[in-house]
Amino acid sequence: MYVHSAGHTEGVGGMKDVLQRLLFVCLLAGFLVSVASAAPLPRVKSVRYDEGSLRIELSGKATFKTVHWKTANRFCVDIDAEGIGMAADELDVNIGPLTRVRWAQWKPENVRIVLDLTESIRPVLLTAPPADTIVLRVVKTAARPPQTPPKVAKPVPVVPEQKPVDKPATTVTDPIAPVVESAQSALIRDLRVERDDEGRPVRVVVVTDIPTPLIPSWTMNTLSLELPNTEDGGRERILVVGDETLIRARTSRYQGETRVSLDFTRRVAYTVAPLEESNGYAIEWSMEIPPETSIVPEPAPIRPNKPLRELTIVIDPGHGAHEIGAKGRYGFEKEANLDIARRLRSALENKGVRVIMTRETDVYVPLQRRPQIAMEARADAFISIHCNATKSPQSQGVEVFHRRDNPASYWLAWFLYQAHRETTGLPGRGVKADSRAPQGGLAVLKRNTVPCALLEVGFLSHPDESRLIADPRWRQKVAEGLVSGLEKWAGGSE
Ligand SMILES: [Zn+2]
Repeated sequence: MYVHSAGHTEGVGGMKDVLQRLLFVCLLAGFLVSVASAAPLPRVKSVRYDEGSLRIELSGKATFKTVHWKTANRFCVDIDAEGIGMAADELDVNIGPLTRVRWAQWKPENVRIVLDLTESIRPVLLTAPPADTIVLRVVKTAARPPQTPPKVAKPVPVVPEQKPVDKPATTVTDPIAPVVESAQSALIRDLRVERDDEGRPVRVVVVTDIPTPLIPSWTMNTLSLELPNTEDGGRERILVVGDETLIRARTSRYQGETRVSLDFTRRVAYTVAPLEESNGYAIEWSMEIPPETSIVPEPAPIRPNKPLRELTIVIDPGHGAHEIGAKGRYGFEKEANLDIARRLRSALENKGVRVIMTRETDVYVPLQRRPQIAMEARADAFISIHCNATKSPQSQGVEVFHRRDNPASYWLAWFLYQAHRETTGLPGRGVKADSRAPQGGLAVLKRNTVPCALLEVGFLSHPDESRLIADPRWRQKVAEGLVSGLEKWAGGSE
């Protein structure tokens, strides 16, 4: 989701770019000319948050500096860049200490990226200028390890019963702590798998003798939990679980630190929580990706209660022209969005609906303009069509965003979501609140007073879904499915 609004997959022409740049450097080097002063300033291509790291991608190398405003809980990256290639102007995160990230062309030759934080922490900069990708780790400050000798391990805490295992895992990542400098190494005291009454593994517990940070990240289907400055006591532990979810849990040494690796059968939503009665962490997971009931539907949907044919619907094909959106193996997102939107228009017009498109061709329509079109037309609904993309080829499924502060918007999103899942059979990622609207979030929703929803039909970065999205028959099926969803949503008898 965030990934979507924040930009898209990396260009396939990376190697070509590198070669071109090398050639350019070689040519210039011959004349002893500085490349930096000759090259135009790069653009900011995307801003993404994933697994505790914020990645800012640029179209070329740029110099930058960081500013930490302690009192304002704000951290800025000022990049010598010109132009922003993103549809959104901010990214809502609300994970760990990071609430959101905003960006603007602050000066003619400088783009400022602002991180709004819940507390005065200083993100760890992992790249040095100049760079074409700026990476920051944004994680909570760990409690200072006590300067006392390691104490005898306490009995392992009993995990409180009141924590239901199948509670919706709303936190996909919860990075606990950054690099902490400490002379004293922590020692892993215990690693174990806890099970529920039916013997299913539900939790992995790692116990250390003193407090230590934990940095989670995924590699394929393995969740790695880095424990910097931690010893394993010369003993690698392997717990074979063999469950349909968790295959095994193990420790290993890696570059002077210990890692706990959890090999899952596929990526799961997980939470990491510090243990209450001893040092260490409990890792819980849920196969529900993500909880589909992040908002409990109210008994009576808010909807027009009119026949569909009496309504005016604005369809917004995402992106356009130079705003290509995500790149799939078979084409650009902007093309798929437009084609699905056109098919949806025809299918709705066949039902007698008045349809207005924010764009009918491959043109650029400013983001502020799109909701205006709906508001001026006094439309009954505004539907933005997009395709998702992430770096990880595993991400898949359907998600629909609504304006958080608008229940009518939620219900529109909910009916579109149900219909699209029914038609396509794709996994559901949920009906999601866009942001702390009206200030934040996706531009086409936040300034929109019409019931509005942004549908991500699937992932261009997922091999199967990108193939589907490229298929005209699938697009047609999607359009027809959305019409039947909209009929249910409209709620009026014909
Ligand atoms: Zn898009």
